Amino acid sequence: MDALEILSDLENVFPYFQPIFSADEQRVIAYEVLGRYKTEGTVISLGPFFQDDQIPDEYKFEVDLLLVNKALEKALGLEEDIFIFLNRNAELLMYGHGEPFLQELLAYEKKGLSLRRIVLEISARNYSGDLNQFDHLLQYYRTYGIKIAIASIDSDSHYFERIGQLEPDILKINLQALKSTATGVNFNDVLFTLSLLARKIGATLLFENIEMSYQLQFAWKNGGRYYQGFYLHPPTAEFIQRDLLKHRLQEKFHDFIAYEKRKLEAVYTTAEYFQNSVQEIVIKNKSAGYHDLFQALIKKMDQIVFRIYVCDEDGFQKSANIFRGKDGWSIQSDYIQKNWSWRPYFLENIIKMRHEQKGILSDLYCDIETGETIRTFSFPINGEDYLFIDIPYQYLFEHDQLL
Ligand code: CA
Repeated sequence: MDALEILSDLENVFPYFQPIFSADEQRVIAYEVLGRYKTEGTVISLGPFFQDDQIPDEYKFEVDLLLVNKALEKALGLEEDIFIFLNRNAELLMYGHGEPFLQELLAYEKKGLSLRRIVLEISARNYSGDLNQFDHLLQYYRTYGIKIAIASIDSDSHYFERIGQLEPDILKINLQALKSTATGVNFNDVLFTLSLLARKIGATLLFENIEMSYQLQFAWKNGGRYYQGFYLHPPTAEFIQRDLLKHRLQEKFHDFIAYEKRKLEAVYTTAEYFQNSVQEIVIKNKSAGYHDLFQALIKKMDQIVFRIYVCDEDGFQKSANIFRGKDGWSIQSDYIQKNWSWRPYFLENIIKMRHEQKGILSDLYCDIETGETIRTFSFPINGEDYLFIDIPYQYLFEHDQLL
């Protein structure tokens, strides 16, 4: 891309706007501003121009400022609850210590555009300068009500660290990574973690690059409040009608909700099945030892479970494991007196079981020893002992609504 050509032809530099939709209102709540350049009748992205290290910062700043200008001028006509996302890399943001850009924004505030509507989409990747100064500047901007979004989960190993440092208002997650099935499973789990983290720090999740229905479903399922991508709407020179997708999004949500409810019903039904089966066996073997109880359980549930043990309410294991491996069932005595209270949800579940006198079917998780995705059914045997029954992947797979 010829930088000088662009600089000498600034009237052909202009912003495109990609709408961002919200799940709660099913309508446009923001636009991301993207740089475009018209040359020989075609419109090209200015992304490569801004990413080109060979082009001096002052050139980029000049083009950027023009884009911001044109975009905000246009945004003056938008409804006042619509946010404007501006892409800022660290170099662009730090230019002139961030002061000229701020003055520009303040000029638009005077014209009626509240700075609370401005969201800076930050990427600090490969930034060679002082990150502290950069963060300091962001905090300074925030005192004006300006919001911070941080972008992109792919290949940025410092992502979690940066989330902790910046406490962004919005986490932008690029769904491009979801396309690759090789990374799919891990990506799911990372995203789930991210949605928990976002909830803890009060950040909103925005999923971008949504290009297919299943990606929208994924975003919806993983706590995404804001959505952006070609599947919804491409970037265009003009703003769109806010409710353009309302009907379509509502239909989509109905489908997602119905699907998810079927799955949750299946989990509930399975929990009931285990509750009834295990309860019956436990009552019948009330005065028997653990060994006889386990034998009775595997007699009835041979292919449905692969590991059984008993813990006390502090998580100390009181029985051996009975474990089904390739060669059938075996006793693993060295597990006696191990402690599991450190495991997530362990104590919460114990308290819940103690009060409700009812078993609990766990969420899906990866078994540390077998590496398989499993669920555990836990059950209060009496006032002191809790039975843990691990359900293998094979069973969940055969009842695929449990996966
Ligand atoms: Ca962006």
